[in-house]
Amino acid sequence: MKEISLLPENLLRMPSVIAVNDWYIRSFQEILEFEKKDPNPETLEIFCSELVKIRNRHSDVVETMAQGVLELKESHDVDTHTEHSIQYFLDRFYMSRISIRMLINQHTLIFGGQLENAPGPNRSKYIGCIDTQCDVVSVIRDAFENARFLCDQYYLASPDLIINEAKNNDEEDFTNIVYVPSHLYHMLFELFKNSMRAVMEYHNSSNEFPPITVAVSKGKEDVCIKMSDLGGGIPRSTTDHLFKYMYSTAPQPSKSDAHTVPLAGYGYGLPISRLYARYFHGDLVLLSCEGYGTDAVIYMKALSNEANELLPIFNKTTSKFYKTTVQTGDWSNQSAHIGDRQISTGCKKHQLPQSAQEALTRAL
Ligand code: ATP
Ligand code: MG
Repeated sequence: MKEISLLPENLLRMPSVIAVNDWYIRSFQEILEFEKKDPNPETLEIFCSELVKIRNRHSDVVETMAQGVLELKESHDVDTHTEHSIQYFLDRFYMSRISIRMLINQHTLIFGGQLENAPGPNRSKYIGCIDTQCDVVSVIRDAFENARFLCDQYYLASPDLIINEAKNNDEEDFTNIVYVPSHLYHMLFELFKNSMRAVMEYHNSSNEFPPITVAVSKGKEDVCIKMSDLGGGIPRSTTDHLFKYMYSTAPQPSKSDAHTVPLAGYGYGLPISRLYARYFHGDLVLLSCEGYGTDAVIYMKALSNEANELLPIFNKTTSKFYKTTVQTGDWSNQSAHIGDRQISTGCKKHQLPQSAQEALTRAL
């Protein structure tokens, strides 16, 4: 909340940002009520139900904050410094949200008598929402099937999936790891949607769509999931923008169709997925060859004791970040200010080819 107050003035005045800020104030006040209460069973029960209420109140934070940034962009000229501040803030804000929701989920599952609602058939392997034997391959299949469902809706076809497991003879179930399946699912679902869209667009003139290949490996330190598509890749000049909030080459989904799930369009898929990966000290990277295809790799820690929470810390460095002025470039390809380059190559939206637009409109 302290960091929210450091945001650029004009962003703080946007109605959606005011709404989000109010939710946080209310929830914080509600939690503070418990500070001096006696921790008897009744209080603990009320505490759990308050947590559920708070979780529900904050379920639309990502969309609402995105709306706030959009409102700012529509009503003001956003300079480079503001752009940087927003990117910096959103990464930290959404990361802390992932953490708070993880805590709330753990608490309500373990203490709120909700264990019977825990996901999956074999509940004994769960500690709250952590699956101690998370089957990576079945999460991959799940995410693929659901992304495929959307892809079929938009394009009336979809690429197949090939899974390669780099298996050692001595390790039968090497792809079982300690992880939160919903986090892994989120990342894979986003990557599949992106790859499917790229493949369908790039091969739109043929009836054959090359499959998406996913390789899973486990080393001493890392578990890696590499998703490769032959979707024509991404030009190098735009790779800097892939993890920016609001950067998308898809047409913005129409507001009147809020109840349908778009295949792409908000530009939040990659940056939020990377936060999920980094949250447990992993990472998500993209490597692309324009004219060919894209590889996306999810890294996770193989040892659960190395997979601690990664959290933003609010301190003097943080405040300084929001106040520093734009640095001057010191390379020949940079104009007066470092960020200017980014404005010219643009976070602007590119339009999809006509065929894709038509396919999307049909599907909506
Ligand atoms: P959404 O928020 O719905 O995911 P989006 O897919 O446009 O919208 P991102 O997932 O963050 O947003 O991706 C940003 C952009 O990166 C995409 O619009 C697309 O241009 C490009 N991109 C991402 N993955 C691929 C890929 N595998 N092949 C080609 N381009 C890609
Ligand atoms: Mg996407």
